[in-house]
Amino acid sequence: MLLLDGKIASQSVKDDLKKATQDLIEQGKRAPHLAAVLIGNNGASETYVASKVKSCSEIGFTSTLIRFNDSISEDELLQRIDELNNDDSIDGILVQLPLPKHINEGKIIDTIHPEKDVDGFHPMNVGRMVQGLETFIPATPYGIMLLMEHYDLQTKGKHAVVIGRSNIVGRPMSILLSSNLLYGNCTVTLAHRYSQDLHQITQQADIIIAAVGIPDFIKADMIKEGAIVIDVGITRVDDPTSPKGYRIKGDVDFVNVAKKASALSPVPGGVGPMTISGLMKNTMDAYIRRIAVPIHLKGDESVMKTNLRD
Ligand code: NAD
Repeated sequence: MLLLDGKIASQSVKDDLKKATQDLIEQGKRAPHLAAVLIGNNGASETYVASKVKSCSEIGFTSTLIRFNDSISEDELLQRIDELNNDDSIDGILVQLPLPKHINEGKIIDTIHPEKDVDGFHPMNVGRMVQGLETFIPATPYGIMLLMEHYDLQTKGKHAVVIGRSNIVGRPMSILLSSNLLYGNCTVTLAHRYSQDLHQITQQADIIIAAVGIPDFIKADMIKEGAIVIDVGITRVDDPTSPKGYRIKGDVDFVNVAKKASALSPVPGGVGPMTISGLMKNTMDAYIRRIAVPIHLKGDESVMKTNLRD
């Protein structure tokens, strides 16, 4: 069984971005700049934002972390995002989700300028992705595409079953896998909480992308021999033996599925680090488009820049 190691694959993406950033600096240009907005003190959000900021510093990007108390009003947050939109030194803006209940997430996403929307959640960018136009691919699906590229997984003509239809993972993933891309061209089934006979559906899958959020949801008897299984799930489960009091579990029963799968991504250390790489690549892309610097990055043509149209 091939372990789809996201730490190794993401390091390779980051090394490539680091080299490109050093070249920019040597040419007298500034580094790409990501602004991360964090509201409140949700533990998981703190961890995610900290690792995004850390990756920026490893690569040589500039990053600015902007923190607000969770009492910030929606109007004030909208105003602050508008300021970031108009700040010429900032290439990418990410607002860490989820937001406090009194703030309308959709309104916030709509306010981020599509050219700085490095999370790829703005409706304009989602529409562009569906139509195969240049855009920002949401970071997690982008990271999964980069993982498939790193391990050169053969996807053309295969049956992919994506479980979970969220706007940030499952739905965009189903669109990319069905698109005319080097690591696409699958026949795609998108399953969700109302799908019937899920066992029967997953048993026919050559590729399974599990993005549900239920630990050990995918059991060995749900997959066929030799399937490729990519585990997106991240759930904190109580673990008194761990210093943190919890540990991270994926959606896949790793030990048993590993006995049948031909390739499997672990949790942690699989899709998580790849998501950060997707975000970093989007930040470089935002910079390139805004500053109009021609840069060649390994893999760009093969993963996303091929003709998405049929
Ligand atoms: P979500 O809660 O928005 O969506 C979950 C999806 O699972 C829904 O579409 C729902 O219909 C489906 N679902 C629920 N129960 C089901 C069932 N019994 N059968 C089939 N489908 C079912 O979640 P999300 O934001 O897409 O995230 C999914 C998981 O991925 C979570 O664990 C999340 O933490 C994780 N995640 C990981 C990364 C990463 O970087 N690795 C990024 C984003 C999300």
